Amino acid sequence: MRRKGFIVTALINRAAGTFGESPASGLVCRNCGATFPLGAQHACFECFGPLEIGYDPERLARVTRADIEAGPYSLWRYAGLLPAGHNPLTRVESGTGMTPLIRADKLADRLGFTAPLWVKDDSANPTHSFKDRVVSVAITAARELGFTRIACASTGNLANSVAAHATRIGMDSIVFIPSDLESAKVTQTAIYGGTLVAVEGSYDDVNRLCSELSETDEFESTAFVNVNVRPYYAEGSKTLGYEVAEQLGWRLPQQVVAPMASGSMLTKVNKAFKELVSIGLVDALDYRVYGAQSSGCSPIAQAFADGTDTVIPVKPTGIAKSLNIGNPADGPYALDAVRSTGGAMAHVDDEEIRAGIQLLAETTGVFAETAGGVTTAVLKKLVESGQLDPSRETVIYNTGDGLKTLDAVSDRVQPTATIPPTIKGMRAAGLL
Ligand SMILES: *Cc1c(COP(=O)(O)O)cnc(C)c1O
Repeated sequence: MRRKGFIVTALINRAAGTFGESPASGLVCRNCGATFPLGAQHACFECFGPLEIGYDPERLARVTRADIEAGPYSLWRYAGLLPAGHNPLTRVESGTGMTPLIRADKLADRLGFTAPLWVKDDSANPTHSFKDRVVSVAITAARELGFTRIACASTGNLANSVAAHATRIGMDSIVFIPSDLESAKVTQTAIYGGTLVAVEGSYDDVNRLCSELSETDEFESTAFVNVNVRPYYAEGSKTLGYEVAEQLGWRLPQQVVAPMASGSMLTKVNKAFKELVSIGLVDALDYRVYGAQSSGCSPIAQAFADGTDTVIPVKPTGIAKSLNIGNPADGPYALDAVRSTGGAMAHVDDEEIRAGIQLLAETTGVFAETAGGVTTAVLKKLVESGQLDPSRETVIYNTGDGLKTLDAVSDRVQPTATIPPTIKGMRAAGLL
């Protein structure tokens, strides 16, 4: 037994390899700067502000391009820059990450770009949205922290990802969604077999219920990925920034456009770019971050337009349900990321979102869910209004798969013709 234990330890040490220990040093309040030890805590004891992971800059700076390139072909190649998963044996590896960065020349032509335009296509993740990134990190942290059950409040994609990851590693899951979600997202969650609770209310109601539940004794050993382990969850989005830089040959793009629900993902892409510069993995560059919302739920874009830091909650409507968070937790931080880099925000209505899905599909072969339609339509709008410069290299993030929201566009397109199986039929339809 001792011998076996020794071998396992040696394997862990070897597999952890060049990454060594976690670079995370503690939890830091984003509001007042107070620091706390690492653990399942999300609000500051001093001011109730949101906590995020703080890092030891020296440990981050030890990570080299060669370490990353020698790592797995998944988001875990960046384990040296993440707060969980240093031990490959506790890491939840679902093959998430390293999604395609597609050069979108035809879309660039249509919108008048003279610089390269790229689509980072995160629909290629295992459950077909970017949420697999945040869940990979959150569920790994939950396991390392000793939780036995995993939970979330979801606008749809998070539900898919949590249920799939939990069953893969043999953990129980309990997922909470608003009861009016797209049927594809309900089915794609329920099929994995965990507990799925449809709540009669909006996402903001679901989120409030989950916050209350997380304080109860019955949920003591349950990790809510976007509530009590949210600081870990949020860091998973940094990998969307790291990957774009690595895929561009270790450099930053000049402009990025990201969709916003809570605003978390956008702030973490910015955090990732800043980290890469500060540890010397890429050259500094004056990049600009742009944020996209739907007109049915645009509290952050509205605050941007009004020139204020105060995000006024709204009651969401419209087809971009995955982005329908009316009271966005990271709104002020998203505003700061966009304003401090010289970017902008915009919102688009349901008709523009449908047209955006179709434009992206026709020009790139990427079929996006409504959130990707929001991002594409906002890109177009920002170019047309002169707020986004088409002579600067730009990356847009497609965060989910069109098959999840088919109804949004199913009446926009049909077969070119329906014919009998004959040459005559082809002629009659004008196709020959
Ligand atoms: C969750 C989600 C986002 C962004 O969410 P944030 O809360 O802003 O991090 C973007 N796109 C899709 C498809 C999502 O599901």
